[in-house]
Amino acid sequence: MINKNSQGGIIKMTSSSLTTCVMLFFLSLVACQGPEKTEAAAMKEPEEAPVDSVRLAARRPAPDFYVLTPEIYKNRVYICDDIYSDIFHVQYDCKELAGCTGSTKNVTLVSAVRDNGRYNCQACSSDLGHIFDDKLIR
Ligand SMILES: [Zn+2]
Repeated sequence: MINKNSQGGIIKMTSSSLTTCVMLFFLSLVACQGPEKTEAAAMKEPEEAPVDSVRLAARRPAPDFYVLTPEIYKNRVYICDDIYSDIFHVQYDCKELAGCTGSTKNVTLVSAVRDNGRYNCQACSSDLGHIFDDKLIR
């Protein structure tokens, strides 16, 4: 009789502590998931900006011909770091650069052309068109 009673007590204790464990487990799940979900939603938002396919299609492929002389290749220029831009700017206050939706980067001319596939901006860098002129006699 005493044995049975103590067994029953043990079983009761086990089941109640199991319940506590399960409850704690769910509580910790809820506590962990809460902030994660909010963070994921907040991080997703910028990605969901609609892509302007017309602007994207207008972007030219990287130049396959360019000549950068030692006098100019280290010159600093500005590029708009977004998915649409294919030009670099000499003037930081260029009106073409003002509409940049990404971040503006200051890079060397050689990096803008070779690494970022940029052409000269017709508004502020039209005098650098010779870089891409494969007919020019140098
Ligand atoms: Zn410009």
